[in-house]
Amino acid sequence: MVRFNKNVRFLSRQREARLKRLKGIGPFITGSMVKIAHTCGNKEHCKCSRGEKHENYYLTYKVKNKTRTKYIPVDMEGDVREWTWEYKRLKGLMKEISELGFAILKQYGVEKKALRIRKGRYER
Ligand SMILES: [Zn+2]
Repeated sequence: MVRFNKNVRFLSRQREARLKRLKGIGPFITGSMVKIAHTCGNKEHCKCSRGEKHENYYLTYKVKNKTRTKYIPVDMEGDVREWTWEYKRLKGLMKEISELGFAILKQYGVEKKALRIRKGRYER
């Protein structure tokens, strides 16, 4: 967890900045791209039978803890790569916004207590 040793106002501004970035998130998809080499059915005439295997990208993702793979058409490789990047960005932002929420909660208590002590009416 990231340590934010700052006051509530600063933390709130940090969170606002991330919320703005959240609005800029584009299409996303869970999972990651893997390149898989394989041979085709044309054993006699294809280059893959001589060791030059075909390489295709697949999306691996989980459904109920089981890993699944999905073929990505060649002309969609660029798009899908971007979608997976966006998902990572989204996850990172969500984590930070949540952590800032925790930090604000914690710091709010600290500041309120300090204020009460300063005003001389701190009682337990
Ligand atoms: Zn082949």
